[in-house]
Amino acid sequence: MGFGGDLFWTVLAREYYKKNNKKVTFVHGNNKIYFTEMWINNPYISEEILPDTNIINLNKYSNLHKELHTEKNSSLQRCNFFGFNPTNLKPDLVYTEKEENKIKNLLKTLPEKFICIEPNAKTSWTPNRLYPFEKWQYIVNELVKNNINVIQVGIPGKKKLENVIDIRTKLSGIRETGCLLKYCNLFVSTDGGLTNVSGANGNKCLSIFTPMYSQNLTNPEIDNYHYIWIHTEDHKACHNIQFCRQCKEIMSNFDDNVIINEILKIYNK
Ligand SMILES: [Zn+2]
Repeated sequence: MGFGGDLFWTVLAREYYKKNNKKVTFVHGNNKIYFTEMWINNPYISEEILPDTNIINLNKYSNLHKELHTEKNSSLQRCNFFGFNPTNLKPDLVYTEKEENKIKNLLKTLPEKFICIEPNAKTSWTPNRLYPFEKWQYIVNELVKNNINVIQVGIPGKKKLENVIDIRTKLSGIRETGCLLKYCNLFVSTDGGLTNVSGANGNKCLSIFTPMYSQNLTNPEIDNYHYIWIHTEDHKACHNIQFCRQCKEIMSNFDDNVIINEILKIYNK
């Protein structure tokens, strides 16, 4: 499972806790405990099976492969499957004191206001989320012309943008990166782990959605979470996780100025 998927489960854990005041232990396979770094410090998820935990076997959830084809937010789909219908779909992500302290010290070395960008989408699940790197560079250059500080976050070793502060080697993983995002004035990326982290943080976020999705799938209706769904009337919601030539063409031909204008609008709000 990806980090985004891990965060979706936190909504279900919270619903269970509200119902019977018991934490959830997630298991999979033959009752093997599943616990991810996204759940460290989560008040509703237990890393061990205790007498008073709700045990949820993730293998029971048979809709994983169907999620993409359903016109509903993924957290909501998972909750509905287990009999809950939450109105609050914001995931929980709670940082440790150590993480908070590290980021507070790091912030002293950074400009007061900044936008974080992750241009390198993870392609292991699908290559169709990728927005062309040179288009990201154009966006960054325009922002810098507007006197906006841009910080590149994400996995070190992947392509580096020009005209940015590259902070990737100073952050040790998704949790520390997420903790930094709490303090940025806007985070911009294609849909992925860090846009879901932003949803949990509540920081301003602009997510660039590939044509392959249907719009409602990834719209979490969370405050400060904005998105641009790139698509045409002829090609949208193809749900094709294999390489899709049309998705790629539509992403490549999209007008970057639409994204820039949206960034400026949200940043200045
Ligand atoms: Zn497509």
